[in-house]
Amino acid sequence: MSDRQREVKVMASEIKRETVVSIKDAYLRYASEKGSVTALENVNLEIEKGEFICVLGPSGCGKSTLLKIIAGFEFADDGKVLFQGKDINDIPPYERPVNTVFQKYALFPHMNIYENIAFGLRIKKLPKEEIDRKVKEMLKLVALEGYENRKVDSLSGGQQQRIAIARALVNEPKVLLLDEPLGALDLKLRQEMQIELKRMQQKLGITFIFVTHDQEEALTMSDTIVVMNKGLIQQKGTPEDIYNEPANAFVADFIGESNILDGVMVEDFKVIFADREFECVDKGFEPNEEIDVVIRPEDFKIVKAEEGMLKGTVKSVIFKGVHYEMVVEENNRTWILHNIKFAEVDSEIGLDIYPEDIHIMKKVR
Ligand code: ADP
Repeated sequence: MSDRQREVKVMASEIKRETVVSIKDAYLRYASEKGSVTALENVNLEIEKGEFICVLGPSGCGKSTLLKIIAGFEFADDGKVLFQGKDINDIPPYERPVNTVFQKYALFPHMNIYENIAFGLRIKKLPKEEIDRKVKEMLKLVALEGYENRKVDSLSGGQQQRIAIARALVNEPKVLLLDEPLGALDLKLRQEMQIELKRMQQKLGITFIFVTHDQEEALTMSDTIVVMNKGLIQQKGTPEDIYNEPANAFVADFIGESNILDGVMVEDFKVIFADREFECVDKGFEPNEEIDVVIRPEDFKIVKAEEGMLKGTVKSVIFKGVHYEMVVEENNRTWILHNIKFAEVDSEIGLDIYPEDIHIMKKVR
């Protein structure tokens, strides 16, 4: 690579790394009858320009609250929200360079589709021709050209949600916040919309911050996933990082089906779980440190009962299309397996686990 090429590459990576939203040391507690609830705890997050970021976690983990402090509907008790390096604490929601799309489409029922999309532009008092051009561009983007005069209630749920997205995007926000926007749609439509949203985001280059509790949705769409639990960010990474290198047992369990059990890291590369010692690829733990062991269902090798590292009895087998899902009982433990090999219910099988498939994780509180 020439010096010039290297320079261009560095420049390109710098352009890519422009931070739009930073959240610094954010804490937020809600008061409730039962005492107070911590919705955000020590949240630190940098979101880059043009990034598709999914905030993923179970219900009540603080995802919506995180969006609300960016949108300006809630304020952190402590900490800051910066927009392109500037503190936006005193900027009211309608003046922030963000728009929000909610699960409920909240379109205006008394206006036709055209007027719903044009609403924000009319408030800004843009010239008529410009409004017309922008509304038509948006209808094209969401594949609903020709729907200008339709009434809101004559549209399907999926179409209404596309109009809600068009109505937000027409204002050209720097950041689009999406709070479970596909939650009310059925599975097939949701999957179609996931691909469409990703296409729109790539075309427009706008930063999307997308909240979901659906791990598959997050894995499908994101450049970056932020996994939250109980107000705390558990891990931030690419979908591949999160899936292949979960930071702790919570992430491993939430992001896919996993076998999680207690273990002891005897020394580097040596772990005890399921009453025996295994070779692993991890090091750097305290001698005899208690840890969590995670094994993905697809990572077991089925061998003859007497040859396996573990021996168990098949309790159930369900055909899942690509693989069989099996429940295997071994010494009062239950293991979930995904395998393309079939084993009879009640048969005895052996299970092998390769060192690289044993994931060792620090215990979290
Ligand atoms: P999520 O979007 O992940 O479901 P939320 O951010 O809505 O989570 O909520 C985080 C926590 O804060 C939950 O325990 C929720 O019950 C609580 N909470 C949210 N909004 C309020 C509120 N206005 N008053 C009191 N508690 C709230």
